[in-house]
Amino acid sequence: MKRWIGAVLAACLLVLSAVPAAAQESGVRLTAQQAGARREYGVYVTLDPASARAKDYSYELLEGGSVIASREHVADTACFLPIVNIDAASPGRYTVRVTAYPSGERAGFERAASIQKEFGTAKGCSCATADRFQLGSGTENDPYLVGTLGQLLHVNQHATQKCYYMQTADIQFGDYTSMVDDYGVVKLHSGSTYDGNGHVIRGGSVKVTRTGDNAEVFSLKNGNLLNTGFEDMTFSVNSSGYGAAPVGGHSGTVKRCYAININAVGRNHAGGLINCWGIGAEDCYTAGIKASSTSDSTYGSGGLIGYLGSPGAVSPTVARTYAFPAKLSAPKISGIGYIRAGSILNSFYLKGTASYGSLPGNDNTNAAPLELSQFADQSRFEAAGWDFENVWTMGEITYNDASGNAVTAAAPVLRVFAKR
Ligand SMILES: [Zn+2]
Repeated sequence: MKRWIGAVLAACLLVLSAVPAAAQESGVRLTAQQAGARREYGVYVTLDPASARAKDYSYELLEGGSVIASREHVADTACFLPIVNIDAASPGRYTVRVTAYPSGERAGFERAASIQKEFGTAKGCSCATADRFQLGSGTENDPYLVGTLGQLLHVNQHATQKCYYMQTADIQFGDYTSMVDDYGVVKLHSGSTYDGNGHVIRGGSVKVTRTGDNAEVFSLKNGNLLNTGFEDMTFSVNSSGYGAAPVGGHSGTVKRCYAININAVGRNHAGGLINCWGIGAEDCYTAGIKASSTSDSTYGSGGLIGYLGSPGAVSPTVARTYAFPAKLSAPKISGIGYIRAGSILNSFYLKGTASYGSLPGNDNTNAAPLELSQFADQSRFEAAGWDFENVWTMGEITYNDASGNAVTAAAPVLRVFAKR
């Protein structure tokens, strides 16, 4: 009998057992996959070929001897095991253990047997700096993981490549003055995607003293920003600067992002989340926004965006957004934003903070004022096409009002930021 022990595994795990440490190509692969509103990062294990003699398998992922993820007794010959709260700056070593169980008629001759494979997660980019990406290859399925401020800034070292990034932890931002290059502390390349994956960039400031520059965290430059929160930040430009907001870079898309307690001081324009020009937005909100600008040459201050579009050049769309401005000041202020070209649709702002949701059309239909209590009414948003199954859920937001007092209000919030 003894000679049969383990035989059930011999064939099916050939590939797994043959995988060298840190190999990514077969058997054991690090990857990200969608799990509800968020994406999960983890290990994808494939058995190739599967064993005809196995009834089912159990998959376990161990870190430091402890099982951190498992799937028991599944017939699947492939399995995803998530690594929750992965440390993107100092990834550990993991072990995958697969146990094969014999089918019923063979149970008397064979017994369950396991094989395990230790693997390191070291991969990441090939840069030589301490803050390089330790995980990922920059593709959509295997994004570079960003877990620290240093790694967030390291995005700039890849600003000439189309890359995918995924944030794995909240990041405390720093104070930045007088950027050596224009538009943004963190620059994406065209087509790149930064996925905050339900994490926040918090605190700090961007102060620009160069002529004709914008104060921003992200310069999208035709990239995509997803699932990122901004909290407690200040943006300012000098008397010859342009705009101020967490996100800019002239073109790109922003989806499922929020900004709370933002102080944006621009000259030409300022926004709670987005600076200006060709950046579209879907399913975003802001609260506790103080936005001011002194010149009306390019269109004032908005709760969400400084100004939208440019005639003959870009006509982006802002849809399903809301804004709770705390204080807007400029020659031209609007609850959501000023439209030069493009559309603001199905959006709402806190009544009393501006006369109109958008300018210059004096629109209170597509960007409508609501009383504070009306933000608690889910049906009002559903009627405007908001998705409460996958994107939004009713919750609470806490923000500072114009006097700096914390206010908590019932309102739609984004599912991707739900507590882990
Ligand atoms: Zn790098």
